[in-house]
Amino acid sequence: MTTGMEMPEQPRSRRQTRAAILTHLLQSGGSFRPPLAKAVRLSEASLSRILFDLKAEGLIEEVRRPAPYVGGPTGLVSLDGSVALAAFELSTQRLSIGVGGLSGKLHYTECVPLPKTPTVESVGRAFREALTLLREQTRLRRITLAQIGVSIPGLGRLSTSGNPIIPCDVRHISATFGEVFAGVPVELTNSVVAHATFHRFRTENYPFSGAHLFVFVSHGVAGAWMDDPAEADALQPVELGHMVFGPEGPRCRCGHHGCVEAYTSLTALAEVLGVAEAELLQIGSEWVNRISISSRVRQELRRRLFRLGLAIGNTLNVRPCNGVAISGWPSLLSEDDRSALVEGIDACLLGGRTLAQVSLAFVPPSTGNDPQAALAFAAFCLASRGGMPAASTEAA
Ligand SMILES: [Zn+2]
Repeated sequence: MTTGMEMPEQPRSRRQTRAAILTHLLQSGGSFRPPLAKAVRLSEASLSRILFDLKAEGLIEEVRRPAPYVGGPTGLVSLDGSVALAAFELSTQRLSIGVGGLSGKLHYTECVPLPKTPTVESVGRAFREALTLLREQTRLRRITLAQIGVSIPGLGRLSTSGNPIIPCDVRHISATFGEVFAGVPVELTNSVVAHATFHRFRTENYPFSGAHLFVFVSHGVAGAWMDDPAEADALQPVELGHMVFGPEGPRCRCGHHGCVEAYTSLTALAEVLGVAEAELLQIGSEWVNRISISSRVRQELRRRLFRLGLAIGNTLNVRPCNGVAISGWPSLLSEDDRSALVEGIDACLLGGRTLAQVSLAFVPPSTGNDPQAALAFAAFCLASRGGMPAASTEAA
């Protein structure tokens, strides 16, 4: 059943329609046919034809279930549990790899440690080692990979050959993937994009469905613009963490001084709290209850959160949007403690937060869950290309 008003203004290609269905299923975890048809703006007959194809290709499955509304039993459509994805997540200490499914379940994980001071060569070797391990595992378990997702901190359009955060040669790494897993689609992305994807698709009741800014406060501080997941440019990194507040400030890992990241990253937090970063990572989210914070330290944290707020507000001045999701250590603080961040946004956002109609939401940190973010990104890549070959020509 469809009305003219529900039809899209722009005709969609087959890939876009399939992407709309798959990304909706990725986000919802499963849907009955009538609400799915409505969500992706298709008649039930059109949806039926596409679901037939997706099922034949092994991308979705359907279980007959009594529907929770009038109209009787119908099929509960979800992504096929047997689709295998590989995830690679690079961090400062290690390269985590895993094989998992579209629902986020990991079947196998492994990690290759990195030397204390990684170089282009040692990172390249770690990737080759991880790829060899993965090839052995997939052969042993007779797994055919549908997609590989790779998360790299600091990766950007300007750093395809050099990375200011972790030394690595992206072109060389991409070539190694092509060599070891010929024919398997591989997507490399900035770690903030991978974590944004993880939150968007794996967090129950994620606060935003429309366009918004995702801010990730971890070893690095970065943002990602998020839009309709079926759109080609749904995720774009924004390096708000390298907004410089004082050229005489602390040195940042990007090479500059006084970046907001140098004041508010996990490394900076550990320093303010007077604990080793490794210890802070080991305690995890519990630090907020286990480490006592003196009023002097609390003041310092508030000053730094205010600065982070300024960076977020400035970003919104450059490109306005109505929602900001913040993930990382500030999310663990009490509302009173993190109010400094909100005040920072208010203090520089043109018109202030209320007039600019910006709503803020704090979501839990996702640091230390590697390679979950890369796995979520791999699932997103497969869904957003409609489960079709990467180099496929558009057929409407
Ligand atoms: Zn920096």
